[in-house]
Amino acid sequence: MVASLIYDFQLSELTTLLASWDEPGYRAIQLWQGLYQHFWDSPEQFSNLPVPLRRKLAGEFSYTALTPITTLISSDNQTIKTLFKLHDGQAIETVLMRYEKRHTICISTQVGCAMGCVFCATGQMGFKRHLSSGEIVAQVMYYARFLHDEGDVITNVVVMGMGEPFHNYENTMNAIDRLNDSEGYNLGSRRFTISTVGLVPAIRRFTLEKRQINLAISLHAADDLLRSSMLPINKAYPIDEILVACHDYVLSTGRRITFEWALVNGINDTPEQAHLLAVKLKGLLCHVNAIPLNPTKGYSGEATTKFRANAFSQILNGYGIPCTIRLRRGLDIQAGCGQLVSNI
Ligand code: SF4
Repeated sequence: MVASLIYDFQLSELTTLLASWDEPGYRAIQLWQGLYQHFWDSPEQFSNLPVPLRRKLAGEFSYTALTPITTLISSDNQTIKTLFKLHDGQAIETVLMRYEKRHTICISTQVGCAMGCVFCATGQMGFKRHLSSGEIVAQVMYYARFLHDEGDVITNVVVMGMGEPFHNYENTMNAIDRLNDSEGYNLGSRRFTISTVGLVPAIRRFTLEKRQINLAISLHAADDLLRSSMLPINKAYPIDEILVACHDYVLSTGRRITFEWALVNGINDTPEQAHLLAVKLKGLLCHVNAIPLNPTKGYSGEATTKFRANAFSQILNGYGIPCTIRLRRGLDIQAGCGQLVSNI
């Protein structure tokens, strides 16, 4: 039998369990602080707990969610990608991107993905399973521990790795809630960005919950014919329906929304697409993040050129829509989501 993963539990649940073992109330906090403030990941490290309790916890819980299999470091030392094996032999990827003062990690929420975006290595692999909230949390803890050893901290978490986070809504939000906890890891909601292909019912749920987490929509095309050919989910949730939900989100939360756009040469980096996008986004508090495509084995599209990317951005800026062209990171280590797993 596989022991329960300790990262799957909320503080309140551990408190209840330890109370049922007749442990004093403060023991759960000590355990929590060991996990989320000291980043201890084996029972012997919990020097703040009595040895019999450490043994009992070791019998009850697994502290190992992820086994690192491969770690690749980009030639500029700025991007690190780790391929992890899970308890059932499945594999996921997590990426650390270092900017000057920012240390952003990109985490996965599923093994594979059901959305089937044609340009994405994870989409090409199909859906295997959801990650538990603890498996999501453990990716953050792994890199928190890594950076802690170097005297650094994670500043931002982007939920843009393998999987569609809104398809695994409960576990993703539970994981973020756990990482938010002020008595534990205490990483503020505004440090998180969730990226979705546009699952409208989940955007609406997210809007109602009025969370402070940043929202990004992977749009990639401004007309339904093109978008459906790149992101099949568009047939269920077409662009205008997504944009209505986005307007409601901005109206309800007052928060700016980001649109992600992977620029594919000659496909969605054209002036026509830029003009159409600008017209569609008019009046919406938003920002467009465009990035040259990270090529994958299963998709013939190529990355845009610098010239075409700049022209795309200038058209949007001309309409008063802020657009940033992002640098591709970690190309030499296949840092795009799912690229490493699809090679094993
Ligand atoms: S881009 Fe995101 S939503 Fe689309 S297939 Fe890849 S992981 Fe899934």
